[in-house]
Amino acid sequence: MATLTDLVHFTTTSTSSGHVLFPATNCHGLPSSTSSTFLNSRNFFPSSPTRRRDRLNCSRLKFRCSVSTITPPIKGVAPDGGQSELDCVIVGAGISGLCIAQALATKHPDVAQNVIVTEAKDRVGGNIITVERDGFLWEEGPNSFQPSDPMLTMVVDSGLENDLVLGDPNAPRFVLWGGKLRPVPSKLADLPFFDLMSFAGKLRAGFGALGLRPPPPGHEESVEEFVRRNLGDEVFERLIEPFCSGVYAGDPSTLSMKAAFGKVWKLEQNGGSIIGGTFKAIRERNNSPKPPRDPRLPKPKGQTVGSFKKGLTMLPEAISTRLGSKVKLSWKLSSIVKLDGGGYSLAYETPDGLVSLQTKTVVMTVPSYVASGLLRPLSAVAADALSKFYYPPVAAVSVSYPKKAIRPDRLIDGELKGFGQLHPRSQGVETLGTIYSSSLFPNRAPPGRILLLNYIGGATNTGILSKTKSQLVEAVDRDLRKMLINPNANDPLALGVRVWPQAIPQFLIGHLDILNATKIALSDGGIQGMFLGGNYVSGVALGRCVEGAYEVAAEVNDFLSRYLYK
Ligand SMILES: Cc1cc2nc3c(=O)[nH]c(=O)nc-3n(C[C@H](O)[C@H](O)[C@H](O)COP(=O)(O)OP(=O)(O)OC[C@H]3O[C@@H](n4cnc5c(N)ncnc54)[C@H](O)[C@@H]3O)c2cc1C
Repeated sequence: MATLTDLVHFTTTSTSSGHVLFPATNCHGLPSSTSSTFLNSRNFFPSSPTRRRDRLNCSRLKFRCSVSTITPPIKGVAPDGGQSELDCVIVGAGISGLCIAQALATKHPDVAQNVIVTEAKDRVGGNIITVERDGFLWEEGPNSFQPSDPMLTMVVDSGLENDLVLGDPNAPRFVLWGGKLRPVPSKLADLPFFDLMSFAGKLRAGFGALGLRPPPPGHEESVEEFVRRNLGDEVFERLIEPFCSGVYAGDPSTLSMKAAFGKVWKLEQNGGSIIGGTFKAIRERNNSPKPPRDPRLPKPKGQTVGSFKKGLTMLPEAISTRLGSKVKLSWKLSSIVKLDGGGYSLAYETPDGLVSLQTKTVVMTVPSYVASGLLRPLSAVAADALSKFYYPPVAAVSVSYPKKAIRPDRLIDGELKGFGQLHPRSQGVETLGTIYSSSLFPNRAPPGRILLLNYIGGATNTGILSKTKSQLVEAVDRDLRKMLINPNANDPLALGVRVWPQAIPQFLIGHLDILNATKIALSDGGIQGMFLGGNYVSGVALGRCVEGAYEVAAEVNDFLSRYLYK
């Protein structure tokens, strides 16, 4: 889960004016908006004739797992004598699913041996999409990750340590306030001097952090309530509100502090105040020495963000290459049947027709609204709970300007320096924020040009769904000319516009309770060996998906170790 520190690193979007000539819809040959329409499992429960076809298809594919049979296998053993039953099927080859498979292979190789990852699309990566063309390299989903140790472990285990690129930790991050881009303090020593907040606002934040503020109200607080109470209105309006847009594209009045920024929430719970909790956490860390750090891991210098030489897509592709034939693309899970003797039968739509297989465990890393449909025949209560999570739309709009189009006052030593900028909703711009992609990582744009990745939309602006791609580029360009780009500059080159109709799960008030209710419903219904993963469970940041993957892999390993028929 993202922390307030994460917020500073993990960001966002922007927009601009009607000066843009977006050549044509999809003029650059980009894929059109993602679609998230999945079929309800009930519609695809295979009938007997279909099952006969499954068997033929499976044998043609030389697939190792068992085909489904009309009579469920006894005690979870496949009809061919148990050779073909899988230990685990991971559904979804986004970062969560792939990392769970890699974590099983690297951390638990003895137990989970027959594992496959199935993916509905014809490519791996889920939300991660990197495009390279005409000397530009841009991201159409996430733009970077925090190089935490679990993430770096995944990078090293994928053989990508030499491809890792890290941003300059000293590069500034900006927030738009009062028509001006103002740097965000990056270290404690900056706090007294940064001009994003007034002296009175800083004092209020300092006293509040020390504990001079109203006590917790006794109900689950929104991010807005928590921050206004603990740190005051200015911290909320000028720092946290834009950061909520940056992480969740969310509305801080409905996001849950406990669910969305649990590490900060816990500081007050554990230490009586944010600073008290920080000191307590430091003391506890010092008292319980950490295990030695894996010497293979690179050491980032300071707080920064990472990617790869050829973009984020390198990670899912590297993991997929390592997994080889264990990754099944264009395999869309259409139904799940719980077998009487234990385990599950899964039915897939594949390019070769319907295929079914049997497995001891299933890990669902599909979005919750897909999991809801698939799990409904097994547990209506779990399905209802899963249908409650909300994913607002976000568009990722990549544009390029010549360097000379940047306003002179935005240049440092003649360059556009920094991670990017965030825009509070109160500041009269539609774009959520802008990543300075060509400043952050090398080789993202040809010489003389800058590449800006803008995010627009989110929980407070779902109207983006009715805009054309040209209109989205125009909106971004219009906003950028207010503070970053010379108002008289030529139209930008519009590189990629990808609309994510259901982009990022919102960790709203009640999120953890709903998640818990889902797990209880599965457990009470005897749906054992069915694990939930993915960003609505682990947290939305890529780093949290990776940490969540290690956790789920350990749970699967634990279950399989105890599995009666192992
Ligand atoms: C626009 C945008 C910007 C973001 N920016 C950042 C950022 O800068 N940094 C950061 O850390 N995070 C960022 N995030 C969040 C992060 O990208 C996601 O949380 C993460 O990629 C989710 O990975 P996942 O594997 O959990 O889910 P997904 O990527 O959604 O993967 C789920 C997979 O399941 C597949 N699937 C669905 N249905 C079926 C089915 N029936 N059968 C088989 N497969 C199925 C899907 O095709 C998909 O590949 C951003 C997200 C978005 C959308």
